[in-house]
Amino acid sequence: RCGYVAIVGRPNVGKSTLLNHILGQKLAITSRKPQTTRHTMLGIKTEEGVQAIYVDTPGLHKDNEKALNRFMNKSASQALRDVDVVLFVVDRMRWTDEDELVLDRVRHVPCPVILVVNKVDRMEDKRQMLPHLEWLTEQLPEAEVVPVSALHGQNIAELEKVIAQRL
Ligand code: GDP
Ligand code: MG
Repeated sequence: RCGYVAIVGRPNVGKSTLLNHILGQKLAITSRKPQTTRHTMLGIKTEEGVQAIYVDTPGLHKDNEKALNRFMNKSASQALRDVDVVLFVVDRMRWTDEDELVLDRVRHVPCPVILVVNKVDRMEDKRQMLPHLEWLTEQLPEAEVVPVSALHGQNIAELEKVIAQRL
């Protein structure tokens, strides 16, 4: 099995940390600038007959009034249609307007979405979860929810298993 895995989420949710853990190395390429191309390749992992190609998609622009931004946002949404799996990474502690923007993009993608709830190591009380999580899972009823700690490598093997099942 082989396919493209898009990793999306607002800044600081832990996308780079997660990928570093999955790939077992520091990423050679990180993308901060808005991309005009469809995807930026972040890394490839081949293991036991499964090849996952991790990609970044073009950035979203808040100001949808400007024609260029509208164009970029449209191309960002189209880019998400060109992948096999979308990893939507959120921080279990914090939900912001930027997460909301990403959610609006992810909501209508035709491929499977995996909701990666990161930073679970910061759960002092294990029952304590992202306050928006219940609401969020209602917004993405088809999405599988996988709690992880990218920093400590908790549950990453399980996440990779879920990804492989959907490729
Ligand atoms: P990105 O902007 O989404 O790529 O986020 P980064 O990977 O750069 O991470 C942002 C910050 O969150 C960094 O300080 C990371 O060390 C921290 N971080 C990432 N994953 C975890 C996690 O699982 N637990 C905790 N406690 N911190 C994390
Ligand atoms: Mg990053």
